[in-house]
Amino acid sequence: MSTAIHWFRRDLRITDNTALAAAAAAHDQVVPVYIVSEWKAEHRWCGAPRQAFLCGCLDSLARNLEAKGGRLIIRQGRADAVLKKLVQQTEAEAIYFNRDPDPFGRAMEERLTKIARDLGIRLHPYKDIALHERNEVLTGGGSPFKVFTPYAKAWLKLDKPEPTRAISKLSTPPHIASDPLPTLHTWKLVGEAAILEPGEAAARKRLGCFLDGPIFHYQTRRDLPAEEGTSRLSQDLRHGTLSIREVYAKCARAAEKAPAAHQRNIGIFINELIWREFYLQVLWHWPQVLDHEFQEDCRRLKWRDYWRPEKKDGGQDYQRWCRGETGFPIVDAGMRQLAATGFMHNRVRMIVAMFLTKDLHVWWMHGESWFMRHLVDGEIASNNGGWQWSASTGTDAAPYFRIQNPWSQSKRFDPEGAYIKRWVPELRDVPAGQLCAPPKEGEALARDYPLPMVDHARERDVALEMFR
Ligand SMILES: Cc1cc2nc3c(=O)[nH]c(=O)nc-3n(C[C@H](O)[C@H](O)[C@H](O)COP(=O)(O)OP(=O)(O)OC[C@H]3O[C@@H](n4cnc5c(N)ncnc54)[C@H](O)[C@@H]3O)c2cc1C
Repeated sequence: MSTAIHWFRRDLRITDNTALAAAAAAHDQVVPVYIVSEWKAEHRWCGAPRQAFLCGCLDSLARNLEAKGGRLIIRQGRADAVLKKLVQQTEAEAIYFNRDPDPFGRAMEERLTKIARDLGIRLHPYKDIALHERNEVLTGGGSPFKVFTPYAKAWLKLDKPEPTRAISKLSTPPHIASDPLPTLHTWKLVGEAAILEPGEAAARKRLGCFLDGPIFHYQTRRDLPAEEGTSRLSQDLRHGTLSIREVYAKCARAAEKAPAAHQRNIGIFINELIWREFYLQVLWHWPQVLDHEFQEDCRRLKWRDYWRPEKKDGGQDYQRWCRGETGFPIVDAGMRQLAATGFMHNRVRMIVAMFLTKDLHVWWMHGESWFMRHLVDGEIASNNGGWQWSASTGTDAAPYFRIQNPWSQSKRFDPEGAYIKRWVPELRDVPAGQLCAPPKEGEALARDYPLPMVDHARERDVALEMFR
């Protein structure tokens, strides 16, 4: 009997899971293990909504594995130590896993290499998280791309890996003990955000619904936060409840049969998937973006409230932004949507991020941490990329002089105020037009709603001066 371990990480599914399928094909028995991190609530990136989603995904994964004859083993601790012990307990001859491009995942993989050498077992790492990773997409000169458009052009030219089927059966040795499935209590967290349904089946259903209609109007509706015009797949790609190969292949198939207008919409959607891979490769090549600005000449900017990110409590302005009490309706709507659901629409993410950095001049890293704690789709590479884009400090970032005006952004993307009114009930009776322009000096938009905490025009000048 040959036994192998499959180490689940950001691949919480049984369909088209590269490493799991390889382990199941090559060994009589597979020990599928998920290792619960020891991160506790104090960690600046740890928050209830994403961990609640993770718990649901693990529950669903456990049931899916059982249906195939296997059993999910849960352990807690540092992955290298846990895996070492598990190899000794199971006499496994190999560990299979899908590679993680972030620096923490990579460091763990390096430690595991040493352990595998000491134990005399084989490691089988696989590409799975992206269609193209690491050094697959490079400039003609062999260096990584720093600009998105040429990266996307080169990415599109490469052949794409095809998805595979779900594993048909799995046998897990019966004597291996497992901890119970984690709950929020495991990390000493509490939370009540109304998150989307977790798990592989729910993710596939979301993809199906999107491909049935919204994808064909993606170009016009994706920027309207009041509409359901985007796929809502980010948490699924983040946790691997869907493979990127399955998403891409289904889009490509839809495009084959579609008229030109629909093909254009599908192409624009695929472009967003490329942004995801662009930021994954940025983090792979430049992991230091997690510690400071990508652009070297931005590293001495005089941000206000420039405190170490390990400290969660910031200045008062930052806290008002976190609570969604800035007096800027579109900003407050976004921050409250995030608190209530663990999600924020992409257009609004850009608006609130620019507001924090360019209107309040707060260091982007604090916003990055707040997002990581509250987003169900919180993903290190895309989140850092989005924040450094908005702060004008990243790869291919928004130019520092192109500062979005929250009032005109509301007018353009939420002209009826439907999104604002959904999330800021104090403003339900305010005419939509008034939500798109600063109120008269000293006059609040509604009785229980604060005055704008800053004058956008003035703070815009301050930001421009700071960058100059
Ligand atoms: C400040 C800021 C922080 C962000 N933080 C995250 C994060 O932590 N995790 C995350 O997945 N996305 C993040 N994004 C990107 C984007 O906002 C979300 O991916 C998107 O809103 C998810 O909704 P959706 O699945 O309906 O997107 P869709 O519009 O349907 O897009 C499809 C998929 O493409 C990817 N994608 C779309 N836009 C981007 C983008 N700009 N950058 C990278 N990938 C993208 C996502 O995987 C998404 O699920 C951030 C953007 C900004 C501006």
